[in-house]
Amino acid sequence: MIQVNENHPIYHKLIKIVSEKNVALQKPLKEYTYTRLGGRADFFVTPETYEQVQEIIRLAQNEIVEFTLLGNGSNLIIRDGGIRGIVLNLGKLDAVKVAGDQLIAQSGARIIHASQVALRHRLTGLEFACGIPGSVGGALFMNAGAYGGEIKDVLESTLVVDRAGNMKRLLAEDLDLEYRSSNIPENGYIVLEATFTLAPGDERKIKATMDDLTFKRESKQPLEYPSCGSVFKRPPGYYAGKLIQDSGLQGKQIGGAKVSLKHAGFIVNVDGCTAEEYIELIQYVQRKVKEKYGVTLEREVRIISEDLVREGNEEGFRTH
Ligand SMILES: Cc1cc2nc3c(=O)[nH]c(=O)nc-3n(C[C@H](O)[C@H](O)[C@H](O)COP(=O)(O)OP(=O)(O)OC[C@H]3O[C@@H](n4cnc5c(N)ncnc54)[C@H](O)[C@@H]3O)c2cc1C
Repeated sequence: MIQVNENHPIYHKLIKIVSEKNVALQKPLKEYTYTRLGGRADFFVTPETYEQVQEIIRLAQNEIVEFTLLGNGSNLIIRDGGIRGIVLNLGKLDAVKVAGDQLIAQSGARIIHASQVALRHRLTGLEFACGIPGSVGGALFMNAGAYGGEIKDVLESTLVVDRAGNMKRLLAEDLDLEYRSSNIPENGYIVLEATFTLAPGDERKIKATMDDLTFKRESKQPLEYPSCGSVFKRPPGYYAGKLIQDSGLQGKQIGGAKVSLKHAGFIVNVDGCTAEEYIELIQYVQRKVKEKYGVTLEREVRIISEDLVREGNEEGFRTH
């Protein structure tokens, strides 16, 4: 593990690109994840322009520094050992604007905010996203969706940066958007901006739909506790929550992590749990459902970074 401090050469290079106010050392990542889990980031960097994002990627490539992209932290479990190298967070790139029927959102904007801007401009199409707590970039990354709608339905194009630091515009069809997936991870794209094509609508109807979806969400989901939302994807022909419920796993607790009593598809952090406990409970649920029903529950949530837990194959967004 590298010891980072203000004398570290990477720190000096980073502040030349984004200035001191946009680089934090040893940043606790718990504050940035919906599960309230995770260790610290060596270099936590918050660029304010697209050009800065490009320069940081080139720096990471040239200096062979590990590089991780963190959106709004609502679909990630960061392990207790934290993240080495650079953690890039685009939260300061959060502008949303409307031009005719198009809504153009920077990737660090919250998709909930984008849906509210659409409402104010009487544009319909983004109602489904009114309760999804991710950033626009994170929503494209996994083709987020809810209640019958998904990003694929409304995305026109996106501006991305590739692994070499080059900016390019892609059409929605270039992203292979499928149920909770896209080709963004395999191509290593960083989403900078998304353009959605919406349609003129009736403000009262749009609002009524959003209120209805919010009510459904609040009555069914344990939003009072930290969690990563639905832990598992919907297995073909089944519902993950129902399989978990019928396996008698609701209320099962490992340390401070618990299978929610309100919604079996959620694992909630009820008592300051560690990432290790949360991940152990995920694996326990997968094992039990497999034993009882022979169904493999595939994780929707991504697990990244270093630690103490023995899970092989890692994801995340890294340059090497
Ligand atoms: C209470 C709760 C309810 C939820 N409900 C839903 C729901 O109804 N439907 C649904 O689809 N999801 C839901 N989610 C999951 C989550 O909100 C979505 O997956 C969201 O799209 C994740 O976005 P994020 O910005 O939080 O991404 P993060 O969790 O920060 O990151 C997830 C992945 O996206 C990548 N990523 C983030 N930003 C970018 C970018 N700019 N460019 C490229 N890659 C990027 C990261 O590197 C990471 O690999 C829910 C989560 C919670 C906690």
